Amino acid sequence: MNICCDHCGALHWVEEATAKSRDNSPRFGMCCNHGQVRLPDTEDPPHALQQLLSGDTPQTREFRENICQDNAALAFTSLGVAIDDRINDGRGPYVFRIHGELCHHVGSLLPVEGRSPAYAQLYIYDPRAALEQQMQCNTNLRRDTMELLQSMLEQNHFYSGVFKHAYEILERHGDIQDIAINLCVDHSRDRRRYNLPTVDELAVILPGDGQRMDGRDIILRMRDGPLMRIHDRHPAYAPLHYVLLFPRGEDGWSWDLKLHQPDRNQPKRISQTRFYAYRIQHHPNFFPTILRGGRLFQQYLVDMWASSDQNRLNYFIMNQNQIRASLYSGLEDAVAAADDGNIDLNELGQRIILPSSYIGGPRNMQQRFQDSMAVARYYKKVDLFITMTANPHWREIQKLYYLARQRKINLTWLPVSSR
Ligand SMILES: [Zn+2]
Repeated sequence: MNICCDHCGALHWVEEATAKSRDNSPRFGMCCNHGQVRLPDTEDPPHALQQLLSGDTPQTREFRENICQDNAALAFTSLGVAIDDRINDGRGPYVFRIHGELCHHVGSLLPVEGRSPAYAQLYIYDPRAALEQQMQCNTNLRRDTMELLQSMLEQNHFYSGVFKHAYEILERHGDIQDIAINLCVDHSRDRRRYNLPTVDELAVILPGDGQRMDGRDIILRMRDGPLMRIHDRHPAYAPLHYVLLFPRGEDGWSWDLKLHQPDRNQPKRISQTRFYAYRIQHHPNFFPTILRGGRLFQQYLVDMWASSDQNRLNYFIMNQNQIRASLYSGLEDAVAAADDGNIDLNELGQRIILPSSYIGGPRNMQQRFQDSMAVARYYKKVDLFITMTANPHWREIQKLYYLARQRKINLTWLPVSSR
């Protein structure tokens, strides 16, 4: 893994280069899509965290073993998802598996009376009392590590100051009921140097201001009120939960990021998957905070994938008319309809059609099944029918393909998707 991408400097294996460029000057699409994704650098983490992530002492080893618990104790937002732990039965490596929809929640800045503070509330609390609280809820964690992390985040995490400031504003307006604060995103701010939020922008929302709010905002209230769901298009979505991966509150993906396409009048947006693919590359000049996260890195990947997948599904829900018109005619639907039998669809709620381009969806499965049956029909008496997923351009596979042809064995590739 010693070949640098000419554009972004990420390290690669030679096999990762595009097939045509492999022999001369390797070029890579998976990191920055040939220079089209240009994001600000991430700064190295504070010294204390860097030590914990890379050291080899009992304290650092223990920290890495419990990193998910440490992170959850210090996060501003809570994770709303059903975690499926059945697979972690002590054999094999740890797996973070979730079931159903995933979201992040933020609560009020003060706990409901009689309840202990948690999440963002701990940042407004007196630090010593907050530490006591964290240790009470996590008796198996080391106090010295927790104290170190807590003061590191207090000093460095951008949103630690923002939440305190929001609290002060709300306290000043204490006599007005139902007042809230909106954490705005400044689209014009300069993010070229470092990927850090720079201006602290808090908009006060007075009662009756409901129309100014958008589902994508982050709204903070003093007390009471329900848990608010944070929209994954907000750049604070990831840094508010994964505080140990983004110890300065570095911005995550947001809707307004554009690709670097100088030949286009209107450059395309950077998709979520492209953004995360860029962020998880290994750059020799920076400390790889995210990649060192171990179990927390796994959790982050699953979380961000779930968020991209949910957004794709939402797109299909919003564009059902187009999908139905163009696709509700295939054989796969006939099969699906037969499966439904006499069930009254009205009783099942609204039916959402997923196009066959949605990998893993029923239409996609049906289409792949039919493709494979067509191959079997074409070659008649098939000896072996083996399915595997691989890149057909890999050298080893190309070699095997060549050998098979020499021996008059038929090998057929079916593309998994047209992309
Ligand atoms: Zn690159």
